[in-house]
Formats: sequence, structure tokens, C-alpha cells
Amino acid sequence: MTDHSRIYIGAAFLAGILLTLGYKDLYPELVRLLEERRRRRGKAPNGHIGDEEILLSSVRAGPPAIVDGVEGCIGNTPLLRIKSLSEATGCEILAKAEFLNGAGGSSKDRVALSMIQMAEKEGLLTPHSGDAIYEGTSGSTGISLATLARAKGYLAHICMPDDQAREKSDLLLKLGAIVDRVPPAPIVETGNFVNRARALAQEHTLSSTTSNDPSAKRGRGFFADQFENEANWQAHFRGTGPEIYAQCNGKLDAFVAGAGTGGTISGVALFLKPRLPNLSVVLADPQGSGLYNRVRYGVMFDIKEREGTRRRRQVDSIVEGIGINRVTANFEAGRELVDDAVRVTDAQALAMARWLVEKDGIFIGSSSAVNCFAAVKTALKLGPGHRIVTILSDSGTRHLSRFWAKAGDVGGATDTKLEDVLNAKEDA
Ligand code: PMP
Repeated sequence: MTDHSRIYIGAAFLAGILLTLGYKDLYPELVRLLEERRRRRGKAPNGHIGDEEILLSSVRAGPPAIVDGVEGCIGNTPLLRIKSLSEATGCEILAKAEFLNGAGGSSKDRVALSMIQMAEKEGLLTPHSGDAIYEGTSGSTGISLATLARAKGYLAHICMPDDQAREKSDLLLKLGAIVDRVPPAPIVETGNFVNRARALAQEHTLSSTTSNDPSAKRGRGFFADQFENEANWQAHFRGTGPEIYAQCNGKLDAFVAGAGTGGTISGVALFLKPRLPNLSVVLADPQGSGLYNRVRYGVMFDIKEREGTRRRRQVDSIVEGIGINRVTANFEAGRELVDDAVRVTDAQALAMARWLVEKDGIFIGSSSAVNCFAAVKTALKLGPGHRIVTILSDSGTRHLSRFWAKAGDVGGATDTKLEDVLNAKEDA
């Protein structure tokens, strides 16, 4: 090596070190400047979050910052590529890992926090005053509410149908909530879990304001009302939708989600559609739910619900959390933005849940399995090269005693084909 070469190599090495050191110092400064700019700009004039703000909000140096309590662990969930489904369909199938929300472990953390914050703003809830939160829920919203109630100085009283997985009500008890498991009943009956929660909240307020009995309840009863409360879809409009948009750099072709209250699909669609007019919003609907026919044909009806065949559950499916036979305020908020619907049988949902463990090590609950099945159907309909986003609402650990008991153990399976999942039939 000549002396010249040595000098060049030495100079390049030194320049490399200086550049690395400079960048290390410069990067946090760059992030600080971007965030400063974002703060100065504030919100877009219509009160909505501006596109630039959304994209800047995804700029983050290193690991997440220190947050305040469990409520600080809500939102900003990863968007993960499901490798097996992407390879099998030729589309990019991405899933928002909502089971990683850090309070109650599901997408309902966002909703519970939003409902509590709105009630506090409206003066309906005051921390540490004896106020209690009442809710009718198939489980996830109750778990999120019970967790956040403890974090914020309230008591929680949860009413749920007694056919839902036992681990959810056990968990609620451990979280210090009062739990009422009631027999499934139509929404028109007073014994229905939602109506019961509403009535108990009213009784609470009445007992504390009218009774002289020292053992009477303190504070007020607040009925959270996730089905009708607009704070529900707004949580997804402000959080889930903008996060997906930023994580995809504004590039996606379809959004696929089931509807329990309808808050997720409406909130995300209301945020994304004005920005992505060609986006297809697809409802993933389990068997027994009437929404599929509502979206496709304008009539709320499901063949499984016809007279004489209806079983006792809210919808006739092993799937929990999604599917409904009435239109709620939260579904109505975004209904016109839903372009299509995919109906998913229990057998297909069970097969998809097993596939995700077998191929990807992803262990999710029943509604997420329905979402992923509908995402695959959407991918096959759109054709290769498209990007589809769906939701992984909660973990399989919440569904061990019902859905996963039926799905069975995956064992050493490695050779399941996507056709096997698509053509899955109920065991005779
Ligand atoms: N998945 C699970 C596990 C749920 O509990 C729910 C809500 N009941 C959903 C999905 C549906 O979300 P949304 O209520 O926003 O329609």
C-alpha cells in the first residue's frame, strides 16, 4: 500500500467516526426540532389532526419515553406484517397489534379511556368521590374500564352475558370490579346486560342523592354506554386511524374490521376515507350477525337467526366481541363508509386462529381470527400487490376456555394449506 493510500484510508476512517458522532448528536436535535415545529403548528383549522402532524408523530428517537401510569401505555401499537398470509396471497397483510394496549390488553383500552375522559370533562365523573362506572360488555370493555377505574379513582360495576369465556369475568373480579353475569336476553328485555348496567347506574345515583341511610352508596353512577357513546368511535378517529395512516405512510388499499359496537370500523373509516378516497372499508362479520346483510343488502337479518333455530347467545357464534343484530350509534356513525362485508363461519375462524399459530406464532382471540380471515378474502378479491390492514383486538389467552377449547391444540402441524382454512367446515 502506498503512503497516499494509507492517508486516504486514514482520512476516510476519521471522517466516518466524525459523521457517526455528529449524527448521534444531530438526530435527537432533529427530532426535537420536528416536535417543536409540530407544537407550534398545533391542530389543523377544522380541529382535525393535520396530515403532517400525523406523520411527524411517528418520528421517535429510541425507545418510548416514560409515560404516566397504565393510561400512558394505551395506543401507539405496532403494525405487524403477517408473513404467512402476505406470502400466500401476494398482498401485504398488516395487522394492528391492539392486544398490546397496556391497560386491559385490547383495543377497548382506547375506548374506555376516551369515555372516562369525556365524562370527566362533562362533570359526570369526579375521581375519589365514590363515583362508579357501570357498563354492559362482553368482557373486553369491562376489563379496560375496571383497570382504568382503579387507575383514576373510581369503582367499576360490570354486567356481562353469562355465556362469555369465564376467564374474562374472573379477571374482572381480580381487578376489583363488581361483576354481574346475566343470562343472554334480547336488548328489548330489562334483563339484558346493557339495560341492567344502565338501571344499576341510575339506582346508584338515586340511592346516594335521596337516602339518609349511612350505608347508602356515595357519589354517582355513570353508565358508560359503549354502544351509543360517541367517545367510542372518536377514540379510533383520534388514535387508531391516524396511527395506521402514519404507519402506512398514507398507502393502503383496504381496511378490514369486525363490529361489536362499531366504534373501531366507524372511527378508522371516518379518519381514513377523506384522506384515501379509493380505500375499501370491509366489515368482517361472524355467522349469526345481521350486519353482513345490512351492509350488502340494506336489511338486518341472518339466516341463523330465523325463528325456531336461534340459540341463546347474543349472536349465534362461538366468536366473542363482534357481530350484532341491531344498528348502534357507533356503527351508524360510519355505516355509509363501509363498502363491503365478508361473512366468516365459526369453522373458518377456528381454522384461521390455528393457522396463525402454526405459521406465525401469533396467538389471538376469536374476533381477530375473523378479521384475518376477512382480510385474506379481501386480498384474494383485490388481487396481488395490494396492502390490507386489519386489527388484532385481543390475545388468545382471553379465549382459552371457549374458542381455543374448541380450536384444540395446534401440536406439531406444519403443512396446513390456505385452501384448508378457506374451505373449513364445521365438524359433523
Ligand atoms: N374484538 C373484541 C375482542 C371486542 O371485545 C370488541 C368489542 N366488543 C371488538 C373486537 C369490536 O370492536 P368495536 O366494538 O369497536 O366494534
